[in-house]
Amino acid sequence: MTDSIVTSNPQSYSTTNTAQDINQYKFQASEALPSLPKYKSKTRFHQKSSPDGDDRQDIYTRVTNKIIADLEKGNLTWVKPWKTSNDFGDCLSIPLRCDGQPYQGINVLSLWGAAAEKGYTRPIWMTFKKAQELGGCVKKGEKGTLVVYANKIVKSETDEQGEETVSAIPFLKGYTAFNVEQIGGLPEKFYKTPSHSENTKARIESVEKFIAETKAVIQHGGNKAFYSPSEDMIQMPLSQAFRDSESYYATLAHEIIHWTNHPSRLDRQFGEKRFGNSAYIMEELVAEIGSAFLCAALGITLETREDHAAYVQHWLSILKKDNRAIFTAASHAQRAVNYLHGLSAFLKPSEVL
Ligand SMILES: [Zn+2]
Repeated sequence: MTDSIVTSNPQSYSTTNTAQDINQYKFQASEALPSLPKYKSKTRFHQKSSPDGDDRQDIYTRVTNKIIADLEKGNLTWVKPWKTSNDFGDCLSIPLRCDGQPYQGINVLSLWGAAAEKGYTRPIWMTFKKAQELGGCVKKGEKGTLVVYANKIVKSETDEQGEETVSAIPFLKGYTAFNVEQIGGLPEKFYKTPSHSENTKARIESVEKFIAETKAVIQHGGNKAFYSPSEDMIQMPLSQAFRDSESYYATLAHEIIHWTNHPSRLDRQFGEKRFGNSAYIMEELVAEIGSAFLCAALGITLETREDHAAYVQHWLSILKKDNRAIFTAASHAQRAVNYLHGLSAFLKPSEVL
């Protein structure tokens, strides 16, 4: 049996392997090594030491515990930043690497959570080493934030008949990232606060076009916003019923994440064995996190939903039982947002970040 690390270049993971890849490994494992003799995929995750020496908790637990702690304080990690930011309006951007690449999935939640807690208003994060390379230095006493990425080990085994089987075993690794506000001496451009278009009308028009290009069927009337899977249709109250058009689109962002779940689209499955009858609660968590990602990407303020409170206790109980549930939800949320961006030729993520 031979083991080899396929992706071990520390530079490559910061741009190619993120938490959202976790499920891609799961779903695309059979495509990963097409030319090898016989391939079987495993989706076991190995616990690795955390980057800052805290070996007592695995990565899943550390990330999950932060989200649980926020929920127990009555905060939703994906909502809180909007409530506490005051330097640049109500809408926070997606966290970025130093090369401008957006973080994805669970890392967005972790970095938003840290930004909210510490009051960071700049979106850029980097490693200690990268800061040094760019001429900066992490300030004394600053603690970084855990960022995760998926890696994999390829194992090849030869059976008694001499046939070789190759399997890829994904596992999760982590490294520490620092916000630029924890770093001194970087070039000035890294300290700029992001600004979405000042022109609200133009911003809303962009969002309108983005939604139109998904070709989702949206009907108006009544006083409830919901997605009907049987009719594959989003029902929205008339736009006049909302505080403003930003509030209307933030509500629609939530419903359009549900819309991506239709069997003809992403058809998310939350296994009966793992989640029992809690699948709909997981779907609601995906819609919550997905709409937060989407609103941040589109530059609109997330709308706090009245039904949040009813779900919080359910989410807490799922997260406490299953330290990978938030990873699963964030990964599905990211896939939903990427799917929507894929439908819209008008507005790509890189243009709105
Ligand atoms: Zn919902």
